[in-house]
Parts: sequence; structure tokens; C-alpha cells
Amino acid sequence: MNKILEVNDLHVSFSTYGGEVKAVRGVSFDLYQGETLAIVGESGCGKSVTANSIIQLIPKPAGKISNGQILFKDQDITHYTERQMRNIRGVDISMIFQDPMTALNPTLTIGDQLTEGVRQHENLSLKDAKEKAIEMLNLVGIPNPEERLQQYPHQFSGGMRQRIVIAIALICEPDLLIADEPTTALDVTIQAQILELFEKIQEKTNVAIILITHDFGVVAKIADRIAVMYAGKIIESGLKKEIFYNPKHPYTKGLLHSIPRLDQKNEKLIPIDGTPPDLFSPPVGCPFTARCPHAMVACEKVYPLRHEESQSHYVDCWLYDERVKHITKINIKPK
Ligand code: SF4
Ligand code: MG
Repeated sequence: MNKILEVNDLHVSFSTYGGEVKAVRGVSFDLYQGETLAIVGESGCGKSVTANSIIQLIPKPAGKISNGQILFKDQDITHYTERQMRNIRGVDISMIFQDPMTALNPTLTIGDQLTEGVRQHENLSLKDAKEKAIEMLNLVGIPNPEERLQQYPHQFSGGMRQRIVIAIALICEPDLLIADEPTTALDVTIQAQILELFEKIQEKTNVAIILITHDFGVVAKIADRIAVMYAGKIIESGLKKEIFYNPKHPYTKGLLHSIPRLDQKNEKLIPIDGTPPDLFSPPVGCPFTARCPHAMVACEKVYPLRHEESQSHYVDCWLYDERVKHITKINIKPK
């Protein structure tokens, strides 16, 4: 399988009046053709910032990539100029956001919005672009595409609009699709249909997908691999079955416990107590210490060494590392 994306030790920070917010603190992952990676976590954990950094959609100059590297198909795009990025965005890498309404221009027909990008980047004639647009609307399941090309966004339902957004994102046949909470604004039935659509599209086009979500139900449906983020770091990562059936990090376990389960009607939602740490001055040790039922002395003092549960599954937690005993004895002083 071809490697589409490689993110190495990404650090992203924002300068604010209150100081520097370290939103992403050393994130690394790979993504292969035809694969779906779900990045999961509570709001503010850095998942959207990670995604936006890949296509340089973090607000500048406040936000900046302070360290690390983003390789897209072996090319280092970390510090591409806005002009260089414009050739990639929507063409090689597409993005879908939560609210389909804001992604569409209310004053243009969906035909115009669909054909705009593809005409610009692929130099297609109007006729060929229109044909391509019809093909895309068919792919995303919009009935009577030929007639509907003439219509405006408000003439479509929320679910249909999200299908159109997906069609626009895919019309230039990108290698990577980044979807940030793509179904959050939709009701449950439509959500399921959109997730099925992602699967179908991936089967057809082999596009790699990064799915950003706080919803493990969504992850369960379409992810191949899962990266769990907390306080700007990926604290556990593994194949879907590894994370669902053998979660290791106490935070991952907490998140999985908080999903309502249809088969256990009386089981209550168990929220995880406490709040994530302040990212103005993130803790030196494990960021989950204050909320973790298993926290040890070492946890607060030193960031856990990575434990590899399998070739595809790792966790940053001292519970799985013998060396913690040593650290506890030395009792390393905080800096
Ligand atoms: Fe809990 Fe310590 Fe593991 Fe962090 S390193 S999750 S505080 S046991
Ligand atoms: Mg977000």
C-alpha cells in the first residue's frame, strides 16, 4: 500500500493575549491509501488543529507549526506557501467540515460550485465539467442530478447538502480527504447514510480518509485505525479492534465507557470526572494524571515511555512499563 501522509513530531501553538497555547504537542502518524484513520478526543484536545495544520488552515499569524514535519506523498509540505497550498487544497487534499451550509455558497447553483474547482485545476470544458459533476452527484446518491445542478443550496435538505459538499470535495479525485466532524450537525438516520457513503466512496476511489470526531459510534462504523488524542498528544493508537476490545490507556477506557450501549439498556453513561489540563503550561508528566484513577508518583513527574502492545498498537502510560518503578524510586524532581 502507498503511504499518502506522514506526520512527524508535529507541534502547533497559538499566541494569545494570555500567552502561548500549545495545542498540538508532538503528534506523529502515518496514513496509507484506502485507509481511514479516526482521530478521537474531547473538544480542545488538538484533533482539529492537527487536521487543519496538514492543509495549513490554522489562523495565521497567531497559529504556527513550531516543530515537526508533514510529508504528503513523500513531499515535505510543512512550510509550503499559501500559493503552493492552493494547488493542493481541494485537488490533492480535500476537507469537509461539520456544517454543510457554511461550506456552500448560497448564491451559486450547486452545478457552478461543483464545476468550479475541476475546471480550474483540470482545464475541463464546461461540458466535460458538467458531465463530471453529474457523475459525482450520482456517486453521492443525489437523484435526478441533471436537473438538480441548476438548483441552489437552500433547495436541498441538510443531509443532501452534506452529500453535495462531499461531491465537491471529491470531484478533483484527491488522495486524501479530511473530514472534521462531518456528521455531527445531522440527525442520526442521515448520519448513518453519510457514513455508509464514505465507505462506498472509499471502496470506489481508494481515497485515504482522516476522520476527526468525538463520537466513538462514528468511529466504530468506518475507522480502520484510531488515534486517541488528549491534551495535544496521541496517547494511544491502534487498529479499531485493538482499541475497542483491548483499550490500554485509562482515558481511552473512560471514553469507551461513556458510550451509551444499545445492548445494555440500563447502563448509565459514565462521564470522565475532571477537565483536561491547561495548555498554556501543559504538565511535564502525563497530562491525564489529575483525572486518572491509577495515577502514580511518576505520572506527574515524567511523561510515560511508549509501550508497544503490538506492532500496530501503542500507548503512552506508565501502567505498562516496568521502568516506572525505577523512576518512582529516583523521585525525579519537577523542573
Ligand atoms: Fe494514569 Fe499514570 Fe497512565 Fe497517566 S501514566 S494514564 S496518570 S497511570
Ligand atoms: Mg473540532
